[in-house]
Amino acid sequence: MSTSRYRTRSNFLTPEVAFEIADTIGTPCYAYDLATLKKQAEAALAFPNAYGLTVRYAMKAAPNAAILKLFHSMGLHFDCSSIFEVQRAMAAGVPPAHCSLSSQELGEGFEKLVEQGVKINCCSLLQVEKFCAKCPAGKELGLRFNPGVGSGGTSKTNVGGPSSSFGIWHEYADKCSEMVKAAGCKVVRVHTHIGSGSDPAVWRRCTGMSIALCEKFPEVTVLNLGGGYKVARMRTDKGTNLQTDCAVVKDEFEQFSSKFGRKLHLEIEPGTFLSANSACLVASVHDIVQTGTDEGHTFIKLDAGMTDVLRPSLYGAQHPIVVVPRDASRASKRKSYVVCGHCCESGDLMTPAPGEPETLSERMLCEAVPGDVVVIEASGAYCSSMSTKNYNSFPEAPEVMIVDNKVHVIRKRQVVEDIWKNEVDLPAGVIAK
Ligand SMILES: *Cc1c(COP(=O)(O)O)cnc(C)c1O
Repeated sequence: MSTSRYRTRSNFLTPEVAFEIADTIGTPCYAYDLATLKKQAEAALAFPNAYGLTVRYAMKAAPNAAILKLFHSMGLHFDCSSIFEVQRAMAAGVPPAHCSLSSQELGEGFEKLVEQGVKINCCSLLQVEKFCAKCPAGKELGLRFNPGVGSGGTSKTNVGGPSSSFGIWHEYADKCSEMVKAAGCKVVRVHTHIGSGSDPAVWRRCTGMSIALCEKFPEVTVLNLGGGYKVARMRTDKGTNLQTDCAVVKDEFEQFSSKFGRKLHLEIEPGTFLSANSACLVASVHDIVQTGTDEGHTFIKLDAGMTDVLRPSLYGAQHPIVVVPRDASRASKRKSYVVCGHCCESGDLMTPAPGEPETLSERMLCEAVPGDVVVIEASGAYCSSMSTKNYNSFPEAPEVMIVDNKVHVIRKRQVVEDIWKNEVDLPAGVIAK
C-alpha cells in the first residue's frame, strides 16, 4: 500500500496511526499534532511588528489543557471569551496576568479576576459601566470596538460592521472616554476583532481604522487586532501568509509613532490559525445506503457527525475527507459519496455544498465499506469545542496528541452515565398524581 496516498493534507496522520487510533482508542477520536501546533505558534510569534508583540491563543478554538500548556510553554498568552475560559486557562497553569477576557457576557465576579491580574476588554457600554462601578479608580481596562467594517468566511463568522453586536460601536468612543475618566479608570488597550476567515484586504483596512481609534485614547499602549487569519483547509483555499499579508501592520505602527510619538505594543489573537490544520477527526464508516438510481445518492454514514464536527452543518464549511480502506486492494477504486453523520437530523452532513449547509453535495472518495476509517481533516478549530455535544446521547469523543507518531490520550472518551449525571428526580408522587 502506498502510504503517502492517504497522508492527510497536514501530513501528520499516517494510515498506520489512523488504524492504531481506531483499533486501540476507538472512533470517533480527535487527533492533534504537536509538531503542527508548534509550527503554527512559531509563525504567529514571528508576526510583523514594530514595537513588540504578544500572541494570545483564542482558546475557544480548542481549549484542551495539553494545548494550553504547550502554548504557555512557548510564551503565548490567552484570549478568553468567558470567565469560565479564564478559569479553565488558570486551571491549566496559565498565570492570570496572561489572560485577557473579551466576552459577550461579562459574568458575575469578573472584578475578582481583575484583582488577580486578568485583563478585561469591555465589549459594550454596559460592560464599561459595570467595570467602572465594580473596579476601583486607577484600574486599567481595554475597549473592544466594532470599527464599522467586518469580514468573515460566512455571515455567521463575521463579527464587525452594523449587523454585528460584537464590540462597542466606534462612534461611542468619546462617550466611553468620558465614562472611564469620570470613574478614574484608564483605557490602556484598544481591541478589534472583525471575523473568522477574514479577507486580508478588509483586515488591512480594519487595521487602519483600529489604529485611528488609538488617537482618541492618549493612555493606550496596546493595540489588539484580534484573530481571524484564514487558513487553507481545502486544497483550493488560500490561507493567510502572516509575513506578507500582514506586513502593513508594522508600517502603520511606525507611522503612528512618528505622528503621535507613541510606540504601541501589538497583540494578535489567532485561534483558527494555530489549531485548524493541527488536528483531524478519526471516524469509521458505520453504514452505506443508497437512494435509487434516478436522483439518488450513495451515502456513507459515519460513527461521528455534528456531535464532533459541526462546521459543515452550521456554515456549509468544507473539510477534506479521506477514506482509509482496511483492504489496501481497494485503494485505487473511486466512488462519489454523500458523507453524513450519525444524528437523527438530515442536516447532519459532512459534505454540504460550499456555504450552503442545506444542500447535499457529493465527494469523490476511495470506495468504502463499513469498518473503513474516515479522516475528517482540519478539525482542530471549533470542532471539539463547538459541536452539538451529547445530541442523541452520543458520548463526547476522546482527544489524542500525536508526538513523533506516538499517540497520547489527552482526553478520555466520556462515559455515557456522565451525560445524565446532573439530572435530578422529581419529588415522589409528582408524576403519579
Ligand atoms: C474567536 C475570537 C478570536 C479568534 O478568531 P479566529 O478566527 O479563530 O482566529 C480572536 N479574538 C476574539 C475576541 C474572538 O472572539
